[in-house]
Amino acid sequence: MFANVVRESDCDNINMIDQIFSYREMCEQENVQTLQRGMNFRLNPNYSVILMSRRSNAPYQDRIFEDGITIEYEGHDEPRTQGNNINPKEVDQPRYSKHKTITQNGRFAEAVEKHQIDKTPPEPVKVYEKILAGVWYLKGIFDLVNYEIKNDGKRNVFIFTLKLSEHQETQGNGDIDLKHTRLIPSEVKKEVWKRDDGKCVLCSSTKNLHFDHDLPFSKGGTSLTAKNIRLLCAKCNLAKSDKIE
Ligand SMILES: [Zn+2]
Repeated sequence: MFANVVRESDCDNINMIDQIFSYREMCEQENVQTLQRGMNFRLNPNYSVILMSRRSNAPYQDRIFEDGITIEYEGHDEPRTQGNNINPKEVDQPRYSKHKTITQNGRFAEAVEKHQIDKTPPEPVKVYEKILAGVWYLKGIFDLVNYEIKNDGKRNVFIFTLKLSEHQETQGNGDIDLKHTRLIPSEVKKEVWKRDDGKCVLCSSTKNLHFDHDLPFSKGGTSLTAKNIRLLCAKCNLAKSDKIE
C-alpha cells in the first residue's frame, strides 16, 4: 500500500517537472502568442514566468546551486533604444524605466519585498530552461525568495534567488518531497536529448516528451548521469507506470 502512494507521487513529479517543449508549445502552454522577454511578472494571474539559459552565448549569468534546487537569476538590462549609444552592459540594471514606469526587475524586486516585509507567501515562478535551440524544458515552479543588487565589477545588477517550491502545480495538489528531489543538470539533459535523438526511446514519438528517470530519487536513483535518464513520451510513461505493480 505504502509503496503505491510513493509511486503515485513520483509520477506527479515526472508529469510536471522535466516536460520538454518546442518554443511554440511553450507559448501555447502559457497562452501567449510569443514569449519575447526572459522575465514575465504575472504572465498568468497566479504566477510569473522566467526563461533561463546557461548556454555559453547566453546574455545573462544564471546559475544553479550545488543543492540542485536553488537558482540565481540575473535581472535584465536597460533596453537598447534608437538614438543613443549607451551600451546596456555598461549601465546599472534599472528598477524604473526612463519614463518612470516600473521594469520587470522592479516588479520582481517588489514581490520579494512584499514577501519579506509583509510575510506573504513568495511569488510562484515557473522556470523554463533552454538546452538547445528550440528545445526548452520546464524546470518546475520556484519560490521567489530574495534579491540583491550586486556590483559585477562594472555596474550594478539584480540577482534574484529562487528555490524549488514544494507546490508543483498551479491547481490541485502537486506537492513534492524536496529532500528527495534533485533537478537533472541541463548538461545531462542535453546529452540525453542528443543520444536519444529527440525521440521517445520506446515508440520514436516526438510529441509530449519528458526526461524519465529509470529509478526515482525516492528509491535511491541518482540524477547526475545520462545513464539512468531517457526520453519518454507521455503515452509510454503511462504504460510504464501501469506495468510496475
Ligand atoms: Zn513513446
